[in-house]
Amino acid sequence: MATPIGNLNDITERAKTTLTEVDMIACEDTRHTGKLLHHLGIQNKLIAVHDHNERDKIDWIASCLEKGQSIALVSDAGTPLISDPGYPLVSGLRERGMKVQPVPGVSAIITALSGAGLPTDRFTFEGFLAHKSGAKRERLETLIQETRTMVFYESKHRILDTLKVMAEVFGADRKASVARELTKTFETYYSGNLAEITEEISADHQQQKGEFVVMITGNPEPDSAGAVDSEKLFKLLLKELP
Ligand code: SAM
Repeated sequence: MATPIGNLNDITERAKTTLTEVDMIACEDTRHTGKLLHHLGIQNKLIAVHDHNERDKIDWIASCLEKGQSIALVSDAGTPLISDPGYPLVSGLRERGMKVQPVPGVSAIITALSGAGLPTDRFTFEGFLAHKSGAKRERLETLIQETRTMVFYESKHRILDTLKVMAEVFGADRKASVARELTKTFETYYSGNLAEITEEISADHQQQKGEFVVMITGNPEPDSAGAVDSEKLFKLLLKELP
């Protein structure tokens, strides 16, 4: 179930009822979720389920559910499984034929897109890129022909490097939007092309703080030669198949 990404009032009535009524809450960080519960005036049992122990906990959680217990899964912010823990658990429970009910709410990707003013009829979520510039560039190069709006998550440690590499790969004049600190006091949108946005964020150290969603419009003129190449490649690969 989803929890806020900044503004603690961004939580649904259904989420509050769920947090109150379940037998326990599986969360990434018990201190972090403890603070949210304290803010909401809710007391409940917290168990830590994060990237490092999630797979080991699946059987135990499944056995609790089989006994009729109810468990809410939350991450530190936003929607679990969206660049957050939860995938092994939810897929493991589904494979066991167990019931999993989403309790929808905030996610940074949809929040960012809804305020950016870029095309949202079709988009692709790319999550976090690799930390190292070389691997990052390689991943971005696979998206050069992408015509849909592309959405990336990025941290304050890498935002400038990432924007610079994006401008090199997609072109400095590609239209984009960067959303920083959504739903928080210093919420800011930077709009323009990749060069303008990079310059604006580079110019002020304060603008490099916080959490970021980077949105880039798709390629307005995809290279038809690229499409022919992939067709050729596909045919070559088919020949190799037994
Ligand atoms: N599960 C979350 C969701 O549903 O959006 C995402 C968690 S992921 C570990 C954290 C990343 O999400 C941040 O590095 C940032 O890219 C993005 N993010 C989360 N909260 C944000 C906010 N308030 N403003 C901008 N970006 C945010």
